[in-house]
Amino acid sequence: GLENEDGKGEVLVSDYTFPASGNSVVYCGLKPVFVDIDPKTYNMDYKDLRKKINKNTKVIMVVHTFGQSADMDNIIKLANRYSIPVIEDAAHAIGAKFDGKKTGNHFPFTVFSFQALKHLTTIDGGALQIQDKALYERGKIIRWFGLDKKKTRLENNITEQGYKYHMNNVNACVGLLQLEGIDKIVDKYIENGKYLDQNLKDIRGVELIKYYDNSEPSYWLYTLKVENRADFIKMMEVNGIAASELHKRNDLHEYLNDNPVEL
Ligand SMILES: *Cc1c(COP(=O)(O)O)cnc(C)c1O
Repeated sequence: GLENEDGKGEVLVSDYTFPASGNSVVYCGLKPVFVDIDPKTYNMDYKDLRKKINKNTKVIMVVHTFGQSADMDNIIKLANRYSIPVIEDAAHAIGAKFDGKKTGNHFPFTVFSFQALKHLTTIDGGALQIQDKALYERGKIIRWFGLDKKKTRLENNITEQGYKYHMNNVNACVGLLQLEGIDKIVDKYIENGKYLDQNLKDIRGVELIKYYDNSEPSYWLYTLKVENRADFIKMMEVNGIAASELHKRNDLHEYLNDNPVEL
């Protein structure tokens, strides 16, 4: 029931992210409305978010870009003021903390990715964390064909569209083993990130990401702004560190933004 009568339900989503964020919105029959980012943190800019909230806004989807939690205080305030649920695309942020609390403790829905390149990988797959107990139970039914595993097949009555979204046991087994060492894995990313913070901070032509107070990023992907990208990439390569460009603004993807909004 996310769509309103004229089918114009909107999801406010960060513009600078992997296209999966906006893609999932279109997949649900809703319209992604891209929110500009703060060029200092690369996270959703709450001032632009505030401007774009309207009566069709159904959900705010934040991305904890590259492992730093979004601008939590301001987003929580706006979400509460307008009673809009927040879904976290936490693909980069397992183990990241804000106000001393790990990702998954701030919002009603948190989506983790266990794709091959993420902190924890099941080779492919992910997890949806739902705070509300009743919605969590409903989620488990939707996940598996609309069938309730607590009932026998003959007792089951499918009442809404279900999917085949469960993870198989082989992938889950890979994930469970990684979960045992997840703190160590995340700590390694943090250690590497802090090393780069320390050693790149005084270099001319390099601007490091700004971290919010109260934020302890998981440093999934180390990202920075440089005056000369090609030269910087070459310099890192010479020093044995792979570097590359990555995301393009999602509003520039025709399919994701059939009704462009001026940023
Ligand atoms: C990796 C990634 C995803 C997609 O995850 P899958 O597990 O491949 O579906 C979604 N959002 C962001 C920001 C990502 O980096």
